[in-house]
Amino acid sequence: MQEPSESLDFVREKVKADTESGKFSGRVQTRFPPEPNGFLHIGHAKSIYLNFGIAEEFDGQCFLRFDDTNPETEDISYVDAIQEDLEWLGVAPSGPPKFASDYFPQIFEWAEDLIRRGLAYVDDQSAETISEQRGGFGQPGVESPFRNRSAEENLGLFHGMRDGAFDDGSKVLRAKIDMQADNMWLRDPVLYRIRRVPHHRTNDEWIVYPTYDWAHGQSDAIEGVTHSICTLEFADHRALYDWCLNQLELPGDKPEQTEFARLNLTHTVMSKRILRRLVEDGHVDGWDDARMPTVRGLRRRGYPAEAIRAFMDQISVAKVNSVVEIELLESFVRTHLNRTALRRMAVTKPLKLVITNWPEGEVEWVDVVNNPEDPDAGTRSVPFSGELWIEEDDFRLEPPPKYYRLTPGREVRLRNAFFVTATDAVTDDEGNVIEVRATYDPETRGGNAPDGRKVKSTMHWVSAEHALDATVHLYDRLLTESHPGADDADPLDSLNPASRETTEAKVEPALGEVATGEVVQFERLGYFAADLDDASVFHRTVGLRDEWANIQKRKQK
Ligand code: ATP
Ligand code: MG
Repeated sequence: MQEPSESLDFVREKVKADTESGKFSGRVQTRFPPEPNGFLHIGHAKSIYLNFGIAEEFDGQCFLRFDDTNPETEDISYVDAIQEDLEWLGVAPSGPPKFASDYFPQIFEWAEDLIRRGLAYVDDQSAETISEQRGGFGQPGVESPFRNRSAEENLGLFHGMRDGAFDDGSKVLRAKIDMQADNMWLRDPVLYRIRRVPHHRTNDEWIVYPTYDWAHGQSDAIEGVTHSICTLEFADHRALYDWCLNQLELPGDKPEQTEFARLNLTHTVMSKRILRRLVEDGHVDGWDDARMPTVRGLRRRGYPAEAIRAFMDQISVAKVNSVVEIELLESFVRTHLNRTALRRMAVTKPLKLVITNWPEGEVEWVDVVNNPEDPDAGTRSVPFSGELWIEEDDFRLEPPPKYYRLTPGREVRLRNAFFVTATDAVTDDEGNVIEVRATYDPETRGGNAPDGRKVKSTMHWVSAEHALDATVHLYDRLLTESHPGADDADPLDSLNPASRETTEAKVEPALGEVATGEVVQFERLGYFAADLDDASVFHRTVGLRDEWANIQKRKQK
């Protein structure tokens, strides 16, 4: 059993109180219940770490259950993808995945039970009429003219629904609760619909499908779930969740629903519908594009699962919805990578630097520390020669004020190597600098002057003769609005056309050995993940500057 952290969130407080009072015989069982109709995103990760975390901490169990009651939008490919993503997130279900569709026979029998006891009826009205008759807050509901059919008639009709006697949408089964209830969900909610749609597991075995409300609590009860944790939108459904379970002869304890605030992040959309639009309208390359907040996207981007989990622990679980700044998540990613990522040199916008007094053809190998935060990471040898690549931005022919990098007549440090002084530059017909010329001081080997003189800047570099080519994707926010979709705006209104800038970079030889998916720090530029399919392509995970710290400072003012 893992020690629960010092201060418990309200869900864990409840679970703890329940175990101490002996409720559910002290047992704890949770579940993560995705619908297999899309890929997991960072919001799901919150629910995953909450459910699996509680099971770990309280010596309980947590299962993955596919809530597969809507065959129209569901697919087996999502079933597989969700399992892969869970594994990558580092959680392990307590057993093989479960499927709500496996419970269709039991759930159907329970519906028959309700009908026999006069607690459910078949309604022949259209979905629109039923919805209109529901009324609203302070507005009375209207009872269906079919509400008082006999149990026998209802049972016959319900079997007819199952056996194909009626068209899709022509009849539904409804619970008979109270058309004047204050809680709209209790105004005779629909339990079953007719849909002649093949299901990815049951094929055409069923043409009637239970609704979420008539399947979820029942699935929980069948599995022995004790704590059914869901997001706040379902708070109003709780009365119905309880009503359904209260009518049934359950195999064990009655599960209890608890709601928590979903994760919202600035500059991020999480609704599957909007994420699908991003993919289908070609704004990103796919669900696993490094700009997507999907688990696959974050993984490609180089976000470590441990950092995502640490972030979730920090923001904790609340009862009120709020929006968390994405910079906080990035800060967790940066902190983690600072400890683990090897340092490398890469030039994303290469400009040639020629050292005119370098001995012709000579190569010096300099020893460079792999990670100053991790002595065990060792050192590597990096070649230095008379022709180097430096960043275009690190040289100005005519420097603006406060420009401390290379410019004619100024001396700077080439990291871990030598001091160099620019002498002049070669320009093309349009006046663009295409080559910088410089001299070096052989006394400054290792990057320090024996006479103690200082330079104002240190630059990274790559030996031209030894450089490898790499493609580098630099990212900016996909959505420039901090709260996309606020005030009923289209969440994609603020799509950033420049969210990805791709450059052809020159990188040091050691980057030829990077593994797919590995994240390294490019000195001065940020953390970069080698693509999952091609290790010569890099995605900028995060920059080096801690923007979260700046936000905190601004808030304190
Ligand atoms: P969408 O509305 O985009 O389709 P969903 O919530 O319906 O998403 P599900 O597959 O049903 O997607 O979600 C599985 C579980 O993940 C649910 O328990 C849901 O409450 C939880 N979840 C989804 N989004 C978030 C979020 N942003 N924060 C926390 N939990 C979430
Ligand atoms: Mg859902």
